[in-house]
Amino acid sequence: MDDPQSFGNLPTRIPSRSALRKAITAANRTPEPECVPALLPLAELPPAQQAAVTEVAKRLVASLRGRELGIARENMVQGLLQEFSLSSEEGVALMCLAEALLRIPDAATRDALIRDKIGRGDWRAHLGQSTSPFVNAATWGLLITGKLVATHDEAGLANGLTRVTARLGEPVIRKAVDLGMRLMGKQFVAGETIDATGQVVMPGLINTHTHAPMVLYRGLADDLALMDWLQKYIFPAEAKTVSPEFVRAGTRLAALEMIQSGTTAYADMYYFEEEIAKATKEAGIRGVLGQTIIQFPVPDAKTPAEGIARATAFIRQWSGDELIVPAIAPHSMYTLEPATLKEIRAVATRERAPVVIHLAETRDEVKVARDKYKSTPTAFLESIGFWGERTIAAHGVHVTPADIRILTKRRVGVSHNPESNMKLASGTSPVPALQRAGVTVGLGTDGAASNNDLDMFEAMRQAAFLHKLTSNDPSALPAKTALRMATIDGARALGLEREIGSLETGKRADLLVVSMRTARQTPMYDPLSHLVYVTRGDDVQTVVVNGRTVMRNRKVLTLDENAVIAEANGWAQKVRAAVQ
Ligand SMILES: [Zn+2]
Repeated sequence: MDDPQSFGNLPTRIPSRSALRKAITAANRTPEPECVPALLPLAELPPAQQAAVTEVAKRLVASLRGRELGIARENMVQGLLQEFSLSSEEGVALMCLAEALLRIPDAATRDALIRDKIGRGDWRAHLGQSTSPFVNAATWGLLITGKLVATHDEAGLANGLTRVTARLGEPVIRKAVDLGMRLMGKQFVAGETIDATGQVVMPGLINTHTHAPMVLYRGLADDLALMDWLQKYIFPAEAKTVSPEFVRAGTRLAALEMIQSGTTAYADMYYFEEEIAKATKEAGIRGVLGQTIIQFPVPDAKTPAEGIARATAFIRQWSGDELIVPAIAPHSMYTLEPATLKEIRAVATRERAPVVIHLAETRDEVKVARDKYKSTPTAFLESIGFWGERTIAAHGVHVTPADIRILTKRRVGVSHNPESNMKLASGTSPVPALQRAGVTVGLGTDGAASNNDLDMFEAMRQAAFLHKLTSNDPSALPAKTALRMATIDGARALGLEREIGSLETGKRADLLVVSMRTARQTPMYDPLSHLVYVTRGDDVQTVVVNGRTVMRNRKVLTLDENAVIAEANGWAQKVRAAVQ
C-alpha cells in the first residue's frame, strides 16, 4: 500500500499566498545554498574534483533559481519519489547529489562516489541541511495543476462556482477563490501534484449525522417504521453483536465508503466511540464523535451513569486531537430521563464538548413528549435547560414555529437527513423555514441501515428534490443551497466553520477532485448544477484531508479495501444469526 506520509511535511492547512511567498523569497535570498557541498564533504574528493564539484554546485543552484527548470525536472523528482519510496525532501536531495556526481568527468571517481555515497545511504544524513529553494519549496506540498473549476468560499458561493483555468502543467489557482497554493514559478516543485484537468476541485463533504458502524446492518431490515425497525431488529441485533471489534470493523467499512464518496468529515453517535475514533483517525478522516448515552442497558454501559463516565473519559482522552473532536451523544429525549439529560448538559459544558442528539424525528416522539410532559420535544428540552452552544440536533422533522424560535435562539445546528426520513416515512423537516429563521442546517445520511448508503452527493440531490416536491416550489431548495448544506453549513452546524467547509486560506486542506468527464455528466453548462443533480460519490477521484491524500485516482491509500470488505462480510454472518 502506498504510504501517503512518504510525501512528508504536507501543510495541513491551506497556506496563505503571503506565507508561501515569504518562505520562497527567504529561500531565494539564501546566498549560495549549494546543495552538493551540503551533501558531500568536499574534502573526501580528490583535489582536482573539488573545484569541479563546486562549479557544478554553483551551476545547479543557478539553474534551480532560473527559469529553465520545468516539468521535466518535476517528473524526474516524481519518478524518484515513487521508485525509491522517498519523501519529497529525500528525493530532491538525492537528485541534487546524483546530478552533481554525474557531471564529474572522471568515470572511476564518479562510480566510486555513487557506490559509496548513494549505495550506503550516507546522503540521508545530510537531509535538511540544504537550504536550496528547490528543497524548501518541495516541502510545501500539494500543487494542483490543470484546468480547474474550483469552488468555493462564501464569495464563490454567492456567484456560483468560479471557473479558474490555466494551461496544463502551469502552476494554477485562484481568481475569486484563494486556494493559497499558487506557486510562484516553475522552479518550485510540489511534494505531490494532482492533475485536475476537466475536474472540479471542491471542499470535502461533511456528513452531520450518522452511526458509522451501522453499515454492518445495511439492508438487514427495510420497509418498516422507525419504532418497529428499532425495536424488532436494530436494538436486538445491537444487543447481540455490538462489541469493540464490531465497531472497529464497521467504522473501517464506513470510512472506506465515505472516502470513496467524498466525505472528509462526519458527525457520529454510537457505542464504544473510542474505537470509532481510533479507526477514523487511522483512515485519515475527520470526526465529531459522540459517545451515546441511553437509559436502558447497552453494549458498552449498563446504566446511563456508566455511559456518562465513559463519555467523560472519552472526551478527555481525545480532546485537542487534529482530526477527532470528541462529543457526548444523548440518544433522544424519549430514551432518556430528564435528570440524565440535565447531567449530560452539565458534563458537556464542563468539558466544553459538542452535544449530538436526535430531535423530533417521528410523530411517536412528539406523542411521548405530549403524553409525558405536555410539551413538544424541542420545548421540553428547552424547559429543562438542555439546549446550549455546539449542539447538533439530528432530523428536526416535527418542529412547530415556536420550536424553530427556540432552535434559533439557542443556536442549535440541525442535521437534515432526507433519505432516512423518506425511507422510514418519518416526515419532512421544514428546512426552508428553519433556514429563513436563521437556523444552520447541515446535511446527513443517518446510519446506513436507514438510508442505505453514506453518499453525500445523493443526500444533496434528495434534499433538493424532497423540498421542491413537498412545497410545490421548484426553487424551495436550489442546488446552491444543497451544496452549501453539505459543506460550509455542515461545518457551522458542527461548530467547525473556522477550520473546514470551504477552500480558504488558513483553513484545513480538506478537498476533493471530482471527475466531470462521464457520459452522464456531458455536457456541462453549470458545474454547480452537475455537482448536485448528476454527480455520484463514485465520481470523486482524489480526496485530501488535513493536507494528506487519502484517496488518489480512486485508490484509497489509508485502508486496505479488500481486507475491510472481507472483514465486514465476516461480521454479516454473525448479524444474520443474531436476528433469526
Ligand atoms: Zn440517527
